[in-house]
Amino acid sequence: MKTILFLLFLFTSVFSDKLEILKDKQFLLAGVKYDYEPFGFVNEKGRVDGFDIDLIKYIATKLDLDVKFKQVTSANRIKLLKAGEVDILAASMTHTFKRDREIDFSMSYFFDGQALLVDKKDAKKTFKDLKESKVGAIRGSTSAYNFKKLFPKSKIILFNEYPQALRSLKGGHIDAITTDLSWCILQSKNSDGQLKVLSKTFSYEPYGIGIIENESNFLDAINEAIADSVIDGTYANIYEKWFGELPSKLPEVWSKQ
Ligand code: GLU
Repeated sequence: MKTILFLLFLFTSVFSDKLEILKDKQFLLAGVKYDYEPFGFVNEKGRVDGFDIDLIKYIATKLDLDVKFKQVTSANRIKLLKAGEVDILAASMTHTFKRDREIDFSMSYFFDGQALLVDKKDAKKTFKDLKESKVGAIRGSTSAYNFKKLFPKSKIILFNEYPQALRSLKGGHIDAITTDLSWCILQSKNSDGQLKVLSKTFSYEPYGIGIIENESNFLDAINEAIADSVIDGTYANIYEKWFGELPSKLPEVWSKQ
C-alpha cells in the first residue's frame, strides 16, 4: 500500500501541470510589490494597484482565472515563489541569468535601467560623482549589486523596502538611492522639487514575470497573454495610465502560427 501511495505521489508530482492545478483552484495568487509605485503599491483606497497589478489582472483574465494578491519584497519574492507561497511574481523583477537558475521568466514585459535619486543640492552631479558616496539600495534588488560592481568604493546602505530608503534620503542620512529610473522619476515628481534624478541610466533592467521552473504550459500561456495585451492595445493603455505616455518599446509579439 505504502509503495502504491508513494508511486502515486511521485507520478502526480512529476506529471502535474501547474496550469491545470490553477484551473482547478480557479485563481492565481500573485506576488506583487506594495512598496514600488507605479508598479505595485497600496493606493489611497487601501487597494493594491499599479502597472504590474493591471498586467497580471489581464493575464489572469486570459487564463480564465481570478486573481488574488500577496505582498512580496525584492528580498523575499523568489523564496516565496519557490516555496509555493505564490503562484506567480509580477514584481518589478529584472530578468537575470542568476535569477533564471532558480525560477523561470516570461518574455520581457518592461524595459528599465538603473538611475540615481538625489537631493536637489546634488542635481548637477553625474552618477560618477557618487562613486565614493553613501548610497541606499533595496535588499535583494539588482541595484545594490550593480552599483557596488561599478563603484567598489561606494558604501551601500541596504533597506528592506523602498519607503525606508526614501525617508533616509529625505532626512539627509544617505547621499542617493539607486534603483530603476521609473521609480526615481515618480519620487522626484512627488517631492515638491526636493529630489532629482541624475540623468543617465547605467544598467539594463528588462522585467519578466516569474514562475517556478519547468512549467512549460503555464509559461506559454503567460507569454501568449503578454503578446495579446500588445496586439489588442491593452499594454499601451496600461502603460499610458501609469507613465503618462505611450511606450517607446513594446514586448515582443511572436507569431500565432
Ligand atoms: N528591477 C530591479 C530588480 O529586480 C529593481 C526593482 C526591484 O527592487 O524590484 O531588482
